[in-house]
This record gives sequence, structure tokens and C-alpha cells, in this order.
Amino acid sequence: MTQHSDMLIVGAGILGLSHAYAAARRGLKVRVFERSSTPLGASVRNFGQALVTGQPVGQMHQLAKASRGLWAHWAEQAGFALKRHGSLLFARNALEYQLLESFCAERAEQHGYRVELLQGEALNKLYGGQFRHHHAALLGLDDQQLYSREAIPALVAFLRGQGVEFHFSTLVRDVEPGRLRSTAGTFTGTHTVVCSGHDYQTLLSDAMAALEPQVCRLQMLRVRPQFELDLQQSVLTGLSCLHYGAFDGLPETEALRAQVRRDTPHLVEQGIHLLVSPTPYRELIIGDSHHYGRDASPFNAEQVDDWMIELAEQTLGGRLKVVERWQGVYGAKGRRPFSLLRVAPGLSSALMHTGVGMSVGPALGERNVADLLGEAPHGLQVLE
Ligand SMILES: Cc1cc2nc3c(=O)[nH]c(=O)nc-3n(C[C@H](O)[C@H](O)[C@H](O)COP(=O)(O)OP(=O)(O)OC[C@H]3O[C@@H](n4cnc5c(N)ncnc54)[C@H](O)[C@@H]3O)c2cc1C
Repeated sequence: MTQHSDMLIVGAGILGLSHAYAAARRGLKVRVFERSSTPLGASVRNFGQALVTGQPVGQMHQLAKASRGLWAHWAEQAGFALKRHGSLLFARNALEYQLLESFCAERAEQHGYRVELLQGEALNKLYGGQFRHHHAALLGLDDQQLYSREAIPALVAFLRGQGVEFHFSTLVRDVEPGRLRSTAGTFTGTHTVVCSGHDYQTLLSDAMAALEPQVCRLQMLRVRPQFELDLQQSVLTGLSCLHYGAFDGLPETEALRAQVRRDTPHLVEQGIHLLVSPTPYRELIIGDSHHYGRDASPFNAEQVDDWMIELAEQTLGGRLKVVERWQGVYGAKGRRPFSLLRVAPGLSSALMHTGVGMSVGPALGERNVADLLGEAPHGLQVLE
């Protein structure tokens, strides 16, 4: 038995680290347990897009806006790269253009999305004219881009410097109020927060089963442009409007959905839209296929990669060479975008059910810790 901690956290993904930061900055004694020797979950496999623009009006948009400043602070303190030049969402055809116009006219100002619609000369000047084949671009001014595989380990190192103790290569086998049993021994703590990502079976399995969670698996590629492009912004297309809640309910969104279903049904069947994320090394992470289920199939379909490369080459206007492929899995399809479970006094869990944990996770950790410590209510729904 080791000394008592104020907060024991399971999982060194973005949710676990966000909770650790929020607790440590309040002067609490914090321990984080992670079964692998370095974080290898969704938080390092993703696109690293901290998106404000795509979030649906309300709670998720507010969380993403609040997370924005936390990322900037962490990047500065922990010394990892963060591109703060926003995102570019390209309208590839007339209908996508009408959708962006409608979003700007009817939603952006009213709900505080900071965006600009670039057309004509402004569009033609972007990256030396590389994107002039599109109808317009929605510049999402609040969106940020990080390189997760470097940012997450840097955040761990920063938190260590703030006094957080990390136990890597340590599986947590069991949690109960006030006590945690792991492969490194038994630990006591006033609060235990389980941030186990999409592992619904090792800890708190009954409470998690009640959420009827699923997983989503994504095929991911890192590519090198075979042409001159020093991209500084995340890139999306009108297809992304079918995936992000900010655009839900606009008549043009439904019209576009019908058009995509009719003209490119394979994109709908494979859940494909396009995300392009620049790394700090003039390479790009591309993808965004979605396959849902109880388990993640290990088998990647080459055809899905081919469709995503084709979309990326059309959007970027040049050839790409694949240098790496991997699969990512995240927790998905609960009844809500995330769950904050209160299992027993001092024992809780925080889980994402949508693929936007990098966008909203920092503020979610901050607000959940405030609530757990009995500070001002955060206004988020918790499940008893
Ligand atoms: C391919 C992909 C692309 C994505 N792109 C984006 C994006 O661009 N923008 C965005 O906002 N979001 C994105 N997401 C979603 C985002 O990455 C996730 O929502 C987020 O990372 C979830 O964080 P987490 O901490 O809950 O989970 P994880 O990062 O998976 O962390 C959970 C950790 O808990 C550990 N763990 C579990 N059980 C135990 C145990 N019993 N003992 C010890 N350790 C344990 C695991 O090993 C793991 O490291 C993407 C996700 C994927 C997979």
C-alpha cells in the first residue's frame, strides 16, 4: 500500500490527462495509471484537429471553445507544435457552396461561430492558387491543429513537472470507492476517475454496459505531397458538413446528403468524408472512414484507402505518396456525445461517445473535476 492521493486517474489519453491537469492545478496530489508504456489509444492515433467550427450549437460548441485556450496554454508550457491558423472547408460544387452560404447567413453570427467565406480573389490567392478549382472555402478561425503523437507525450512530461505521478505499463484490474488495484499494487485515493476510452470490459463493466456503447474504427494514412504544399491549416470539404452537427438542420445539408447518396453511395456506406491534417514535417494525415460495431474488425480494406486518397488528391490538387497506415478506434454511439458517470461516492468515469475528444476533452476534464470537487455546477449532465 502506498501513500494516499487526492485523485487516481485510469487512462493517459486526452480525457485522463485533462482531468489530471485540472486536479493538479488546484494543488491536488494526482496519480495516472496507463497500461501501455506510452499512450497508444485514440488520443495519439487521431487527426489532431481541435475543431470548434464543426461542433453542434450548445454544449459541445461551448466545450470546444473553452478547450481552445487550454490547448494554447499547454502547447506553450509543454513545448509542442500547435497550428493556430484555423481550418479550410472547401465547397467542391454548387450545392456545397450554397450550404456554406446558408451556414454563414443563418447560423454563424447568431451562434458565435467565427468564420469567413473565402471566394474569388481571396480563394485564388490561397497557397499560390492551389485551391482555385473549388467554389469557396469556409475559414474556421477558431480551429487548431496539433500533432497528437508528439503533443500527448509532451503533455505527460509537462504534467510530471507539475507533480503528477504516472504509472505506465500498469494495468488497473479493479476499482472501488477509495481504492484501486493494479499490476503495480494497491493505491488509495479520495477520488478515482476512470477514463478508459473504448475499453468497456475491464473496469465498471456493468455501468458501462448500461450505456450500450459501440466502437468506431477508422483507416488512417500519413502521406507526402508530391508537389509544393506547405499546408498550415486543417482541410475539410463539404462532405464534412454531413458529419459535423454544426450544419445539421440546414435544408442544404439534407439536399447534399441526398446528392452524395445518389452520386457516390460508397462514401455513405463506408462513412467516408475527408479530413486532411498537416503535421509539423510537411506531411499530411488523411482519412476519415467510419465503421461502427461492438468490436473493431482488424481488417483494413484497400479500396477504402483508395477512395480517401482519391478524394484527398482531388481536393488538394496534386499527387500524394503514402508513407504510413494505421487503424484508430474510438468510443462511439452512446445515447449522448459523452458520459460522466457517478458510480459511487468518490468513484466516477468520463467517456467520449463521439470522435471529437481532442476538440472538447480539455474543457470536459476541467468542468468534471470542478463538479467532482463540489465547486460551481458546470451545467453538464451527470449520470448517477
Ligand atoms: C483515428 C481517429 C481520429 C480522430 N480524430 C479526431 C480529431 O481530429 N479531433 C478530435 O477532436 N477527436 C478525434 N478523434 C477522437 C478522439 O481521439 C477521442 O475522442 C479521444 O482521444 C478519446 O480520449 P480518451 O482519453 O477517452 O481515450 P484514449 O485516448 O483511448 O485513452 C484511454 C486510455 O486508457 C487506457 N486504459 C484503459 N483501460 C485501462 C486499464 N484498466 N488500466 C490502465 N489503462 C487503461 C488505455 O490504454 C488508453 O491509453 C479521433 C479518434 C480516432 C480513433
